[in-house]
Amino acid sequence: MPLVAAAAATAALEVDTNTYMDDLKNSNKLHSIPDFNTVNKLFSSNESAAKFLLAEGVISPPTVCPKCANPVKPDLKKGKVRCRNRNCRHDGEWQQSIYKGTFFEGFHSSKGALMLFCYHWLCGATDKQLAIYTGWGKQKIQLWSTYLHQVCCAVVLDEQGQIGGDGVVVEIDESKFGKRKYHRGHRVEGVWVFGGVELTPEMKVFAVAVPMRDSETLLPLIVKFIAPGSIIRSDCWPCGF
Ligand SMILES: [Zn+2]
Repeated sequence: MPLVAAAAATAALEVDTNTYMDDLKNSNKLHSIPDFNTVNKLFSSNESAAKFLLAEGVISPPTVCPKCANPVKPDLKKGKVRCRNRNCRHDGEWQQSIYKGTFFEGFHSSKGALMLFCYHWLCGATDKQLAIYTGWGKQKIQLWSTYLHQVCCAVVLDEQGQIGGDGVVVEIDESKFGKRKYHRGHRVEGVWVFGGVELTPEMKVFAVAVPMRDSETLLPLIVKFIAPGSIIRSDCWPCGF
């Protein structure tokens, strides 16, 4: 899209920088992460964690036995679903983990503990804090941190569509990823990522790696990823434009 058309389209978007910091301080939406007590109660046992995951559709174990088609109910405490039909049991009872095919498959410790780890990680806990909160070793923490990073990246890339909408506030920002390194005389720098998040309970996001941070680069991205009528907020809007 030519730059002029892009600029015209974005003219419909209200750029509001003055109230941004005030809103940041006052908005509850920016603190949509539940408090620790609530989360801790929810994930204190395998049963309550499974109940939550089932209700949220994160796990969806089979409702009928694949062998005899009898209805089956998951045992949330044991984390298994099995067929209780006597006739079906003759040639070996059918049962499987309620976590099969999910994020939790292969994690044999408490699923509640893993959910708490995810919670602390999402809250931005450092490796040291994660070790203290979970009692896990360094290797396990690094493994799951890396995995969560990958999951988040996959979700962002998968859901790249337009965010915002009429009257929806979209916060945009630029961040540099990667550290400066000096290797064999060549300076290797990180990459600039331009992204946005809408301040709604869904908190839809977009993120794009950008070679430059000038208006010719960023304006078309704003038009592409932010729906017309959105209210764009940025604490760095004037710089780079
Ligand atoms: Zn069966």
